[in-house]
Amino acid sequence: MKTTPTTGGEAVAEQLPTLLPCPFCGSLSLKVYMNAPSSDQTPWPHVACLECGCGQSSADKWNRRPPHAPAQSALDELQLRAVEAETNLEDYKRSFYGAFADAAELRREVERMTQAGVDISIAWQEANTKVNALMAEVEALRADRDRLHEALASVASICNETRAARDLQPRMTEIRGIARAAIDTARASTDEGVGK
Ligand SMILES: [Zn+2]
Repeated sequence: MKTTPTTGGEAVAEQLPTLLPCPFCGSLSLKVYMNAPSSDQTPWPHVACLECGCGQSSADKWNRRPPHAPAQSALDELQLRAVEAETNLEDYKRSFYGAFADAAELRREVERMTQAGVDISIAWQEANTKVNALMAEVEALRADRDRLHEALASVASICNETRAARDLQPRMTEIRGIARAAIDTARASTDEGVGK
């Protein structure tokens, strides 16, 4: 067991029991100080670990401390867990940011689809307005057509009457001739009677 005695500690070091490794870190780099807070006190050795800084007020107490191995293995275990936790945290961060990016992409997709829905709704309303206007035009054209049919029927009726009147013309002329002849005959008879 290697110890590093302080000045004047050569004699003391020889009296010390063999020091066990540091109970906390297992280091063999130990230093022995001679403690004497007041001048009337007999100095006593204080063992300190140069690796982790822990200490004990006597070599016997130092050697009675619980062995370092369980603490060291627990420390190793903790460090292992810390590394695992850090790795898990990195994985979690990656998956979180991945999910965050996916969510952002989904939100953009929803916004695109919502906008498309609004566009379709506007286009449908415009088309509906145009269809209504066309239907009104068709109704107006139907009314015009009906009026035109009525006018054509009137024209046809007038044409028929005109044709009938024209057909009657020769007969009227004939009747008028007969009437005129009858009048002339009657006039001649009257003239003869007057002349006699
Ligand atoms: Zn130590």
